[in-house]
Order: sequence, then C-alpha cells, then structure tokens
Amino acid sequence: MPDLTTLSAELDAALFRHEIYAVYQPQVDPLTGVVLGVEGLCRWSRSTGEAVGPDVFIPLAEESGVIHGVGRFMLDECLTQIERWHGQQHPVDVAVNVSPLQLATDGFPDYLIEQLAAHDVPAAPLTLEITESVPALEIAQIVPRLRMLRAAGVGVSLDDYGAGHASLSQLNMLPLSEVKLDRSLIQAADEASGRILWEAVERARDLGLRVVAEGVETDAQLDLARNLGCDRVQGYLFAAPMGVDDVDTLLAA
Ligand code: C2E
Ligand code: CA
Ligand code: CA
Ligand code: CA
Repeated sequence: MPDLTTLSAELDAALFRHEIYAVYQPQVDPLTGVVLGVEGLCRWSRSTGEAVGPDVFIPLAEESGVIHGVGRFMLDECLTQIERWHGQQHPVDVAVNVSPLQLATDGFPDYLIEQLAAHDVPAAPLTLEITESVPALEIAQIVPRLRMLRAAGVGVSLDDYGAGHASLSQLNMLPLSEVKLDRSLIQAADEASGRILWEAVERARDLGLRVVAEGVETDAQLDLARNLGCDRVQGYLFAAPMGVDDVDTLLAA
C-alpha cells in the first residue's frame, strides 16, 4: 500500500475516474431471514487494481474535503437503487453512511430533500447512519439538521452504538429512529460486554428505537441477536457487501 499522502493525492481524481463505487450488505429479519434492507458501503479500486478500504480512505477524504463528493456520490447511488428496487416491487430500505462533515454543511437537509424529489422516492426507506468519527462533532449544530430530516421522514441511525460512553449520552440528544449495535459487543463473549449490550438495547427500546445488530458471523451471535430482540441483523453469516446485481438476485429469490 502506498503512503497516505500518495493515496490522498489520488483520491481527488478517483471519484471522477469512477474508481469509487458502492456495494450493499443485506440486513435481514433475524427470525425469517427475509431481506428487509441493505447498507450502502463505498469501495475504492485504484487504477493499479489495488483495493483500498473505506477504513483507510474515508479518514483521508474527510481530511482533504473529498468526503463531500464521496458523500454526494453514495447518496445518489443509494437513491438510484431505492428507486429501482421499489419500482420492481422490492420495497427494501437502504442505509447510507454520512460523515459528520457532510452533516455540518449548511445546506445538507435541503440538498437531501431535493435529491429524494429528483429521484422520485419516498423518504421512509432511506436511513442515514451517523457516528462520532470526527472528534469536533458539533452536536448542537447537527441536531436541528437531523430534526429537519426526521420531520421529512428520513431515518437516522446511530452507528457503532455501545462502543463508547459518548454514544450512550448522545442517545437522548439525537433525533434517532434506530441504533446499530457495535459489532465488538455482539462478537464479545465476556460477561462485562454482555451486560453493556443488554443495557444498551434496553435503553434503545425505552426510546422506541429500531435495533440492528451488525457483525453477525456465527449462529451463536444470531441467537444472541434474537434473544436481544433485534429487529434486523447484518453480517457475514448472511452475506458480505455485494454489488447491485447480486442484491437483485437475492431479492428475486
Ligand atoms: P461501518 O459503517 O460500521 O460498516 C460496517 C463494516 O463492517 C463494513 O466495513 C462491513 O463490510 C463490515 N462487516 C460487515 N459484516 C461483517 C461481519 O460479519 N464481520 C466483520 N468483521 N465485519 C463485517 P467496510 O465496508 O470496510 O467499511 C468500514 C467503515 O468505513 C464503515 O464502518 C464506515 O464507517 C466507513 N464507510 C464505508 N462506506 C462509507 C461511506 O459511503 N461514507 C462514509 N462516510 N463512511 C463509510
Ligand atoms: Ca454503517
Ligand atoms: Ca458500525
Ligand atoms: Ca465503524
């Protein structure tokens, strides 16, 4: 892997060279296995053919500002698929990851609402997944924007929920519709994490939030998600992130 400075310099061009693309990971009903939705995740395949993961390039994109272009691209991709899947009578939900830097942009709610109209899709199938990945996250600035989007019918999910204490305190402040349990909690088998997990789910339930478990890799983890009463599960046990064609096949099955 080349150094980060090289990658950062390439990232700008990567977007208009179509090296960045979207994949989708199914979210299923833990009891029936029916696909209820997908999460859109971005990928970068460099001109050399080498794949660079979002864990590496999203932070670079946030640093350089390219994240705004990446975010617009991913939103457009996800809305395009909602339009297509719903047109084919597959009413799946689509979740898209949104950087705090995008949320901090003044026109973000208006932009998103315009995009929904441009794609002629309802707001309800769309969920924005937000995290605390940028330390300077300005809650006070972001909350009114999220409220506008929630009022328009868009879902808001707190990603990596339960991973740190910050997310628990944010739970009451953010206008959420969903939490996504951090995979470290689902995958940990020790008693302490178990306790955190059950408490985290209970708090989310008290607030009437949908609960999604991610990183479900084993039958034991699926059992745990069922026992916790999770509404949706996502993980390699069911499917890895895949291209739209493979999602189409899955939905048609
Ligand atoms: P995330 O939002 O927490 O996404 C879940 C990550 O877990 C994904 O990694 C997914 O491929 C991986 N995963 C799914 N099932 C399993 C499983 O069963 N076991 C394990 N170990 N991992 C699983 P990915 O695609 O590499 O994305 C990494 C992170 O990059 C994401 O974490 C998210 O924070 C960020 N990211 C990805 N796409 C975007 C995007 O379009 N915009 C923004 N802002 N961030 C993105
Ligand atoms: Ca996510
Ligand atoms: Ca997550
Ligand atoms: Ca994460």
